[in-house]
Parts: sequence; structure tokens; C-alpha cells
Amino acid sequence: LFLWSHAAYPQLAKTLHAENGIDPEWIQSGLLIADCENRNLVQTWCESHTLSVEWPDPKRFSELEPDLALAPPSPHYLPDIAQVRNPRLLKVMRAEVVRLGGIIMEHQAVTELMINDHHITQIRTATQTYRAESYVIAAGAWSGQLAPLGKELPQLPIEPVKGQMIIFEAPVGSLRHIVLSEGRYLIPRKEGRILAGSTVEYTGFDKSTSDQARQELEAFARSLLPDVDLRLEKHWAGLRPGSPTGIPFIGPHPEIDNLFFNCGHFRNGFVMAPASARLLADLMIGRPLEIEPKPYRLMAER
Ligand SMILES: Cc1cc2nc3c(=O)[nH]c(=O)nc-3n(C[C@H](O)[C@H](O)[C@H](O)COP(=O)(O)OP(=O)(O)OC[C@H]3O[C@@H](n4cnc5c(N)ncnc54)[C@H](O)[C@@H]3O)c2cc1C
Repeated sequence: LFLWSHAAYPQLAKTLHAENGIDPEWIQSGLLIADCENRNLVQTWCESHTLSVEWPDPKRFSELEPDLALAPPSPHYLPDIAQVRNPRLLKVMRAEVVRLGGIIMEHQAVTELMINDHHITQIRTATQTYRAESYVIAAGAWSGQLAPLGKELPQLPIEPVKGQMIIFEAPVGSLRHIVLSEGRYLIPRKEGRILAGSTVEYTGFDKSTSDQARQELEAFARSLLPDVDLRLEKHWAGLRPGSPTGIPFIGPHPEIDNLFFNCGHFRNGFVMAPASARLLADLMIGRPLEIEPKPYRLMAER
């Protein structure tokens, strides 16, 4: 899903921008990873996934990132890795759906799926009922609450996993690459802002932020960029749709003939989004498949 999406993103971003005037800022900024336990494994993995990898010496490293105070034993650099500006991507996707004639109804939680003889007949919100030929559960961390249970499917193992993030205002060019170190990361945005993330917290449907997380993320960013003027702008939390292995569920419900899933993408929903949508659409309308569906089936072994 990553490789297909990685290949599709540049054209997708370009088309969405051209059609709707909102730039989702897909930028191939490259990724610097500080920690490496097994160089051979990294090298082999990158080669088998047709991704370039470089092992910069200190001189090359300081050319790549002059202000980054990173002195790890074995940093490596993946120049192909890119980023997309997630709020802008959602904004432009929304505009594209409307442009193509789709109707988006917001703040209407689906409360019930009405099922008769292995078939959904309609769905209910607090105020309305709706009918469709097919239905897709793509409700993120809430997907498990919506999924009807069946004999073959006792439980959809999706749970909310909170992530807290902060963003700084900073001079343009203070950081040029995405940086991953000790499980935390920095992402430079086009106009200079720098994101620092993130926590991984199993605390239910709770989106509160904590001073402790803010202090930890702030200390992490400041330790990597000690000479950069970082001004904290915002601190927030979101809920990831956690699944046991991080592998999403994409495809038909095993017992209900007009119900499909596209959920459980955990930490990589944006990384895998274009391919996930393509696979789901191909399965729903019976097009030839470009992506092997088996690993993402509901009953797949994980
Ligand atoms: C701090 C943080 C950092 C992250 N970083 C990255 C990253 O770097 N790269 C990456 O790829 N991913 C990242 N993710 C993960 C990514 O955000 C998720 O994988 C992705 O958002 C999942 O998309 P989704 O559409 O399945 O769920 P969501 O984005 O959660 O969307 C689900 C939607 O369903 C709606 N909904 C819920 N219940 C109902 C209902 N009953 N009726 C109707 N609608 C309903 C919700 O309101 C919501 O709009 C991060 C997440 C967090 C929190």
C-alpha cells in the first residue's frame, strides 16, 4: 500500500491542486533516521523496495542539515521519502468530492445499521435514515463501534490510540528534512513551521492534551535544533485507528453482502490512503485489481 501510494501521490497532488486551487504540499523532503540497529537489514529492505538509501559521513550530514544537533552512531538518509500537508490534503479532497458531484453531510453520526438477511437495508443517524446500494465503514478509531458483529467476525479489533503533537514557528530553512530519532520526529513545513510528534497513548476516546507531553516534545525539538528560534504555536491531540499489527482492514464484510471496510490504518493512514482507496474502489465495482487484497481481508491472518 505504501509503495503504490508513494508512486501515486505526486500526480494526485498535482491534479487536486490544478482542479481546486488548494496545494496539498506533497514535497519530497527526504527522511533522516538517527538510529540504526542493523545496517545490512536497512540496505536490503530499501533495495528490495526500490528506495534509495545513503549513509552520510559527518561532512555530508552537515551539508544536509547544518543546524541539526544529531550525533548518532549511524544516521541514514532516504531521499525519496516525501510528506503531504494533511489538513490541506483533506481540504482539497473535500473540494474535489463536491466538484465531482458528491454530497458531504457533516455532524451526522451514523447510529445504526439496519440489517436484514445479511444485507444492509438502511442506516440511521439521530434525525434521518439513508439508503444506498453499498456502504463503507471508514470511521477511523470509531469503526469498531459501528461494525456489526457476526458469527465469523466476533470483533473488529480497532481501538483509539491518542497522539499528541506540537508545531513551532521557525525561520524558513531551519530544517530541510524529516528527521526520525528515538521514536520521535520533526517535520519541516514549506513556510518554516516545524512539527514535532508524537505520543502513543492507549487512553480510550480521550483527546485531551497534557503538559508532560508538551514538555517532552518541546525538549526533543529543542535538543535537535538548539540554535534555532523555535516559537511554540499549537499543541493538540488526535486519535489514530489502532489495529493489532498496523495492517488495515480493506474489503468486503464476510457475511453482509453490501458492506465494506476501509479502516484500521493506525499510524500510516496518509501514507497508505491512495492505495487503500484504489483497492476498495476496485473491489466494490469489480475492476481488475492492481493491489493484492489478501493481506487486508477481514479474516486475513495477521
Ligand atoms: C498525532 C498523529 C500523527 C499522525 N501522523 C501520521 C503520519 O505521519 N503519517 C500517516 O500516514 N498517518 C499519521 N497519523 C495517522 C492518520 O491520521 C490516521 O491513520 C488516519 O487519519 C486514519 O484515517 P481514517 O479516515 O481511517 O480515520 P479518521 O481520520 O479518524 O476519520 C474518521 C472519520 O469518521 C467519522 N466518524 C466516526 N464515527 C462516525 C459515525 N458513527 N458516523 C459518521 N462518521 C463517523 C469521524 O468523525 C472522522 O471524520 C497520525 C495520527 C495522529 C493522531
